[in-house]
Amino acid sequence: MSSPYSHLTTPGPWTYGLALAAVLLLAVAVALVFLQRRRANRLFPRFNALWNRNAEPFCPRCRTALSDFQRRTSWKFESSGNRTVRKPVSYSAFQCRKCRWKVRLVDEDGFELTLETARRRLFEASEES
Ligand SMILES: [Zn+2]
Repeated sequence: MSSPYSHLTTPGPWTYGLALAAVLLLAVAVALVFLQRRRANRLFPRFNALWNRNAEPFCPRCRTALSDFQRRTSWKFESSGNRTVRKPVSYSAFQCRKCRWKVRLVDEDGFELTLETARRRLFEASEES
């Protein structure tokens, strides 16, 4: 063999090693991308809802994205003397469009939060454990 390229056409152990390294590198790259995507999709619970890294809320029951945060009215029953009176109450909540679950934002002390406050407090130091 006089061709200067003969070493490229005859696969020696060196070529196999290189191919193996390339395959391994590809596998590592794929695994990294996969892990990063999983990390980005990870939801964590806070204020009665689930949140992603972009402070977007999700339903705690079915993990659907929540969007319609608004004032809603309901009734509560209060005893007055020896009778029970029905009184209107209003509160802010999301309603999941998939499972119809109402998601209220409540902090650790039981206080209702606005969406802005919840988002602001979401990444405060106290949360990550
Ligand atoms: Zn839901």
